[in-house]
Amino acid sequence: MQRLVVATRNPNKVREIKALLDGLPLEIYSLVEHPDLPPVEEDQPTYAGNALKKAAAVRAAAGAAGAVIIADDSGLEVKALEGLPGMHSARFAGPGAGDRANNRLLLERMSPLPPEKRAAAFRCVVAILFPDGKSCLVEESCPGRIALAARGESGFGYDPLFIYEPAGLTFAEMGAKEKNRVSHRGKALRRVRSLIERWLGRC
Ligand code: IMP
Repeated sequence: MQRLVVATRNPNKVREIKALLDGLPLEIYSLVEHPDLPPVEEDQPTYAGNALKKAAAVRAAAGAAGAVIIADDSGLEVKALEGLPGMHSARFAGPGAGDRANNRLLLERMSPLPPEKRAAAFRCVVAILFPDGKSCLVEESCPGRIALAARGESGFGYDPLFIYEPAGLTFAEMGAKEKNRVSHRGKALRRVRSLIERWLGRC
């Protein structure tokens, strides 16, 4: 069966991506199963640059020969903070900071802002590298609003603070399936899924 490697060690992203590619004739691996690969420094100025860098690092690894590779780079952008945390989402509160510290800092930075100034969007870029050398970039976003306090238990990262307005719930209150239906990553991976289906049809 065709192998696909998801170029991430983030178990939450792996879980979402596997659910979104479910049913395709693929054996899906991630860097969780390849701890031998060195971590990639995410030092590019754009999401696309980082996604391509992460995918290319996997392609260079011997074990990835013949595999389709996908890499997601994503972040939360708050309008009133001029796009922060954005590219710095994973380490907003400093190198090695966890979700709790990042969320606390975001709430602190937003505390003076009234409800109408709490607009935000999640952004996601996925790079796909096919074994025949073709590559694609897919970008999607999901608009929302930052809550006054964390709400909900599911998901990861900024999910407890991100209100998806049509539902009136945070991503962490919506649960995995509902989040994937509307999220930045869900929208991007549905497009990735059709690109892979088309590619598999030509093999
Ligand atoms: P990176 O793509 O590995 O640079 O990290 C993305 C960071 O953005 C994550 O560590 C989260 O903090 C945040 N993020 C990206 N997507 C989501 C999401 O779907 N929910 C919550 N936080 C997210």
